[in-house]
Amino acid sequence: MGASAEQTAYVALGANLGDAAATVRQALHALDILPHTHVLRASALYRSAPVDASGPDFINAVAELRTGLSAHELLAQLQRLEQQAGRERPWRNAPRTLDLDILLYGGLQLDDPVLTLPHPRMWERAFVLRPLADIAPTLVSAQQLQGVAQQRITRLAPEGADPRMD
Ligand code: ATP
Ligand code: CA
Ligand code: CA
Repeated sequence: MGASAEQTAYVALGANLGDAAATVRQALHALDILPHTHVLRASALYRSAPVDASGPDFINAVAELRTGLSAHELLAQLQRLEQQAGRERPWRNAPRTLDLDILLYGGLQLDDPVLTLPHPRMWERAFVLRPLADIAPTLVSAQQLQGVAQQRITRLAPEGADPRMD
């Protein structure tokens, strides 16, 4: 793990094959038990229409992590979890059982062949900005949310919530 200090990182989770909500919940738990890593906050689950992608609606969430892993170590762990969930990459933007992207890793700015930070497309995506704003409101401005307001997305009721309480 080297001598790197702990960092706060934000990870976007998405799934649109199989029981996507169950996959995302399991992935949140899997993030929490990664080496040298804990989930500090997890957003609600959201349902969103595919953007530049095909297949059923996505289930999305964002998690705030505290991690001693380097950014590249974290990416490798996320890719391992994607593989465990049965992710295949038959074509670009294909439907996926699980997609895990690093949005932010501390204040790190990086653009190398395997990792770009901050995630270059995060600011265009309601399915990233809405859940991120839930858990880290200071990171997302009202103007940024307004910019993605046309994208179809709904927050799901928490597991076990009584629908009559809406
Ligand atoms: P998008 O990046 O637009 O959300 P995607 O998630 O569908 O698209 P993938 O096929 O999952 O794209 O990933 C392609 C490559 O992106 C990965 O192999 C990884 O090396 C690279 N990548 C670059 N920056 C990041 C990042 N911040 N988080 C995750 N992967 C990244
Ligand atoms: Ca992605
Ligand atoms: Ca990805």
